Amino acid sequence: MRFRPDCYFSHVATLFPWYWRFLGLPLSRAKGMCVDRIPFSLVEIMIWSGVACSLILIAITATGGWSRLRRSRLMYAALVSGPILLVLMGMGQGAFPMSLAPTAWRQPLAEAFPGMPIPYPLFRRELDRREVRLLASFSPAYYESLSEEEILHGCDLSLDTVLAGLGLQPGRAVGKMKPMGPLTTLLGLSYGGPAFHDPFFGEMAMVRPEDHPAPRYWRLLGVCHEAAHAKGFTRELDAEILTQLALSRSPDVRYRMLGDIMYLRKSGERIHYPEYLRREIRACWDSLERVEARQPVVRFLKKAAIKLGFQNSGGKYGTRAGSERWNPDHPFYATLAGLWSKPAAGRGMAGAGDGP
Ligand SMILES: [Zn+2]
Repeated sequence: MRFRPDCYFSHVATLFPWYWRFLGLPLSRAKGMCVDRIPFSLVEIMIWSGVACSLILIAITATGGWSRLRRSRLMYAALVSGPILLVLMGMGQGAFPMSLAPTAWRQPLAEAFPGMPIPYPLFRRELDRREVRLLASFSPAYYESLSEEEILHGCDLSLDTVLAGLGLQPGRAVGKMKPMGPLTTLLGLSYGGPAFHDPFFGEMAMVRPEDHPAPRYWRLLGVCHEAAHAKGFTRELDAEILTQLALSRSPDVRYRMLGDIMYLRKSGERIHYPEYLRREIRACWDSLERVEARQPVVRFLKKAAIKLGFQNSGGKYGTRAGSERWNPDHPFYATLAGLWSKPAAGRGMAGAGDGP
């Protein structure tokens, strides 16, 4: 059995389709139906409860009340379930190398659909094409008209089409993106993950705009990205590839515009954006500076996470840093180019005039 650096077992990937068909998908649908109906973040409540139980257990142990607690079976079980829940939730996340989330074991899309190497001139030509298209077609009115609720519904449908086009098993229908609570906001901003899909409960949540000012496109892309996770794709790169395909495949010009923004933003190259977007990005930077000045705990934890190497990195999302040398086999861009060039696999996504 090959032990991969990200701790996933390659043999398990071959069993994944069976797991997903008979257990994973029905379970994901059942969990989704329940959590989407709860108006607040269940993950937030569960973390608070787990922390509270752990603190009470520590206090009881410190004051010598452990044997008395063991005699009260119900109380003991209730309190011990708190830290157990925290461990299970932690291990069930896809973000960490020791993840036990079964959806993190499926075969990566970049392996299932290996792309062809893209020489740099071709990559740059594609960026130029999208840049020209975005500059020519960008409309502030169209851009502002797309709400988070609408794109959640639109991406839900578009992702289903993309998965069917790729011959992949479907995922659950997603219906709710919740605002993150204070604790998940603190943890998310410190780690560098201002939105999440929790594979344990199947819940999706995103930071409130007042806690993390960001351009509109960032939030809209984030909604589609989390929806891709909720469909059963825990790995970040898979969610990004599916998001790009869902946006590019959409018959709605606003989604395709977002697809171009995403493709260009991830490239690490110098790009000319429409003036409206540039102004929005600058305004968000200014607001973010003011908001971060009021978040000393986040600043402290973020620094600690960077020092300890826990901070989220763009690499696993397939985002290219400006200083990075061009990799012709870049997993995000090469996989997409490969998919767009294959008529069979691209059946579900080559529409809408997209692809090189
Ligand atoms: Zn993600």
